[in-house]
Amino acid sequence: MKAGARVALFGECMLELQGQAFGLLRQGFGGDTFNTAVYLARCGQAAGLHVAYATALGDDPLSTGLLERWAGEGLDLWLVRRLPGRMPGLYMIDVDARGERSFSYWRDASAARAYFDAEITPLEAAADTIDALYLSGISLAILPPEGRERLFALMLRLRDRGAMVVFDNNYRPRLWPDTGIAIGCFDTAYVLASVALVTADDHQALFGLPSLEAAVAEAQALPVPELVIKRGAAPTLVRAPGGPWQAVPTEPVARVVDTTAAGDSFAAGYLSRRLAGTDVAQAARFGNRLAARVIQHPGALIPRDAMADLAAEPLLPAPNGRPHA
Ligand code: ADP
Repeated sequence: MKAGARVALFGECMLELQGQAFGLLRQGFGGDTFNTAVYLARCGQAAGLHVAYATALGDDPLSTGLLERWAGEGLDLWLVRRLPGRMPGLYMIDVDARGERSFSYWRDASAARAYFDAEITPLEAAADTIDALYLSGISLAILPPEGRERLFALMLRLRDRGAMVVFDNNYRPRLWPDTGIAIGCFDTAYVLASVALVTADDHQALFGLPSLEAAVAEAQALPVPELVIKRGAAPTLVRAPGGPWQAVPTEPVARVVDTTAAGDSFAAGYLSRRLAGTDVAQAARFGNRLAARVIQHPGALIPRDAMADLAAEPLLPAPNGRPHA
């Protein structure tokens, strides 16, 4: 892939409230694809990667505040739509006296759901200039059926011209009206993607498989040329197009503080390397290292300083010198 590649990530970033219900709440923001975008911008800076987050926000002050913060994270904002009268989605993390966390969501009418409610969106208009598109099972879940069709058409268009189309299988049952619809959408995404990042747990849950081993075996048979199967602390399985399966060890972590964004940061680490032409095993190794760092800190987005060494690490060239095809 060329230097200064352009990546677009489509999804939803929500406002976050964390604390005790009816007590003091601290405000933040986050979302799976958004977390990946931020970590990718941090890790891809040295390689001149352009990372654009594609979503919709409202025209309210909170939406403006989000955009300012996203720009501060180095994200390109040219694919963001602003929809008058809509608002960003919101979720609350209620931390009880024993430190247990529970989540509540207000996202049914969020702006991001309406991203494709236009003749042509900035993402579609930019389709011929994007080198890689990244989306997740949550990106699909939040869209109405017509929006999903538009996103699938975009995946097909990019895939046809050899761009990288990456699908991450984040499966959240409560976002789907029924499992059958979710399975249909995931099946389509797997046919259209050139790269899939599959969490074994989520694969097992979606397809109702009897064991994690069965989930891994089924995931290995998915019709995607480049496949990564994540299994928590167990070695990551990875296969380049036409290549053999390789097991890449994860990093030992003595004390896991918070696994939020483990998969999101893995995806960013992996893609930052693949977009620079590094081979799949090296890319998975870097993804594992970044994810291991992230889970040793609270929250989805760890401070920049806590990963400055990883972000500054030089990109390894592919042993055969060939960039991602
Ligand atoms: P997800 O966050 O998508 O549910 P996983 O739980 O499989 O996915 O974790 C994603 C990645 O985070 C793993 O591939 C690994 O790199 C890292 N990771 C998760 N848990 C651990 C752990 N206990 N020790 C080391 N690395 C971990």
